[in-house]
Amino acid sequence: MRQKIVAGNWKMNNDMAETEMFLVGLKKQVLPEGVTIMIAPAFTNLNHTFQSVREHPVTVVAQNMHQSENGAFTGEVSAGMLKSVGVKTVILGHSERRSLFKEDNDVLAEKVNTALAHDMEVIFCIGEELSHRETDDHFTLIEEQLEEGLFHLSEVSWKNIIIAYEPVWAIGTGETATPDQAQEMHAFIRKTIAEKYSNSIANKVSILYGGSVKPKNAKEIFAQKDVDGGLVGGASLDVESFMAIANAFKK
Ligand code: PEP
Repeated sequence: MRQKIVAGNWKMNNDMAETEMFLVGLKKQVLPEGVTIMIAPAFTNLNHTFQSVREHPVTVVAQNMHQSENGAFTGEVSAGMLKSVGVKTVILGHSERRSLFKEDNDVLAEKVNTALAHDMEVIFCIGEELSHRETDDHFTLIEEQLEEGLFHLSEVSWKNIIIAYEPVWAIGTGETATPDQAQEMHAFIRKTIAEKYSNSIANKVSILYGGSVKPKNAKEIFAQKDVDGGLVGGASLDVESFMAIANAFKK
């Protein structure tokens, strides 16, 4: 059975005091059964967050990492450093990393390899810009991101891969893909993986939707057959709205 996941990507938000306030609130909540809850704080708060939720079923996730083991890469953080503070899951290929920090599929493939070599789990983000959708190129673009970022992997590596489909035009804009649009793309992603590998692998990969997921739209999106949860930005900063999203899976 595929893992149901709700992951909060805090981006460059929440300093130490705000992180602590969130964690105090989170630890008071009854977490939904059968849903993996993940939070991705800033690098500076990973260690504290990991220690704080040690006794709770919450996965602490890094928002990025460098592809090299160590060395002269000022400002960067390695897989080994993340593992040393207990972090075993990393988001790679977020559209903000792709567009603002010019990370292309080649670099991302290297990052994926490094993370997997450290036995980490990867949330690999893919998604089209509005211009691709307007010219009907969105499926081709998604196929290319899968092929260049992930399709060099061996079958066995896929047990550590989670995909997040995040249409760029829906991130932080308040504009959400319709449930039908999300389902259509998630089914396409699964089919593309099945064709490259097998139905068995495709049916085990969790595919999350990201792009302005809110308490009011989460239920309908998560009810789609091929949607296994969400990668949530803005609405993950507040415990109440994050938990409302986590509780949106149909019983
Ligand atoms: C994200 O940052 O991955 C994201 C989906 O952001 P938002 O939910 O704010 O659109």
